Amino acid sequence: MVKYCPVCETEYQDATTNCAEDNAKLSNDKPAHPLDEESFVAFYAATNELEARRIVAILADENVEGMVRETTNTVFPGAAGMRFLVFVPANARSSAAQLVQQAINDEVLSQDGSYVTG
Ligand SMILES: [Zn+2]
Repeated sequence: MVKYCPVCETEYQDATTNCAEDNAKLSNDKPAHPLDEESFVAFYAATNELEARRIVAILADENVEGMVRETTNTVFPGAAGMRFLVFVPANARSSAAQLVQQAINDEVLSQDGSYVTG
């Protein structure tokens, strides 16, 4: 029996409990695939990939499926303009925002990111 990382979807053998890549807690359930990208919305822009991955792991703990897409800020292109957008299913947007706010309050996340509106 294998386990799966809910964040990066790597397969692991049974004895492993956390993903080596992102430290997410492994699940017995195979990640649902393919992702229906149409129903996902960007809800948060993290300033670095580590934070974006951390958000996805936080969401996964609450059974909210998240994913990260790298994007360039067109107003400030270049390294300083890199942002990592976190996507969640549209119907999970408000609960995801609450979880991120809670993580910021708990100082698990920095306050450097920003919510995507609209
Ligand atoms: Zn992983």
